Amino acid sequence: VAKRLEKFKTTIFTQMSILGVKHGAINLGQGFPNFDGPDFIKEAAVQAIKDGKNQYARAYGVPELNSAISTRFQEDTGLVVDPEKEVTVTSGCTEAIAASMLGLINPGDEVILFAPFYDSYEATLSMAGAKIKGITLRPPDFSIPLEELKAAFTKNTRAILMNTPHNPTGKMFTREELETIASLCIENDVLVFSDEVYDKLAFEMDHISIASLPGMYERTVTMNSLGKTFSLTGWKIGWAIAPPHLTWGVRQAHSYLTFATSTPAQWAAIAALKAPESYYKELKRDYAAKKEILVKGLKEVGFTVFPSSGTYFVTADHTPFGLENDIAFCEYLIEEVGVVAIPTSVFYLNPEEGKNLVRFAFCKDEDTLRGAIERMKQKL
Ligand code: GLN
Repeated sequence: VAKRLEKFKTTIFTQMSILGVKHGAINLGQGFPNFDGPDFIKEAAVQAIKDGKNQYARAYGVPELNSAISTRFQEDTGLVVDPEKEVTVTSGCTEAIAASMLGLINPGDEVILFAPFYDSYEATLSMAGAKIKGITLRPPDFSIPLEELKAAFTKNTRAILMNTPHNPTGKMFTREELETIASLCIENDVLVFSDEVYDKLAFEMDHISIASLPGMYERTVTMNSLGKTFSLTGWKIGWAIAPPHLTWGVRQAHSYLTFATSTPAQWAAIAALKAPESYYKELKRDYAAKKEILVKGLKEVGFTVFPSSGTYFVTADHTPFGLENDIAFCEYLIEEVGVVAIPTSVFYLNPEEGKNLVRFAFCKDEDTLRGAIERMKQKL
């Protein structure tokens, strides 16, 4: 393997899912719903295939999808963006992140990350040759240590790569935190890459896109996808929204990474983005109920559970159970208890910082969640 990827192992999600299957464990690890997305979207995909929408799409997106994305962005943020010049459809948000890094970051540029961070951020930054500066968010509330953040900016800082609602903690950045990030980025002429794939799973407060803050749109790439909002994580339809000068970089990388993404899935995505408001309300209501089952259950089992405002994840402190670290705990949980969770130490630059924390996903039907809690009550 190339030197720039030498330190990365098989992703933790793959590792834990494989181990879970081997032991017949209930998977509250990898974040994928164990139920399907809505029929009207699946039918739109079947129809698109039957209608012969099966050859390469336009590289930066089926025009109607670019328009649907810009309409939704306007509804969500009030920002009016040109679907032709400011929206790029990618193979999931993960590709949008990779294309943004490879298209806009030079080797040696410093990029600030908030740890714990989604694992692909570090690997993609490494592929781009960036120097990573980590700022650690600490329990119980995972708020941004503002002084540390200020101190992290240097003349070489090119960008911040952030995520709200935040995987794995469920933290949502407050308006004050976003304003501080914004003013530091404006002052230091720094870009923001904002991964907002959990924006529709915001329970305790309203999601705010940092691009909507004054002076920020021109320096922000906002990324999102279909997967979480429509329970279709396998479709890999994502997008990046940015002003033309940044979109150019994203598109250049995207053109040579994947060129274009699945045509029929893009046509179905157009149908998805036309979902009525009631769809989003129902989604949130269903997830709030699932979250309550999981959080209440984990507390009864004996975990310290940290408040999660958004996403379909919660983090918990496993130390009451006496295992040496998060990896040992998750292995024990799979092998002896029959439940998969994700150890969080892999999401830190310094793994020590995550050794007490594990992440549970509640994107599962209620019986599955109850079943997992039952196993933990009996065997932990
Ligand atoms: N985003 C999901 C998670 O955080 C799945 C990740 C993956 O399998 N690469 O669990």
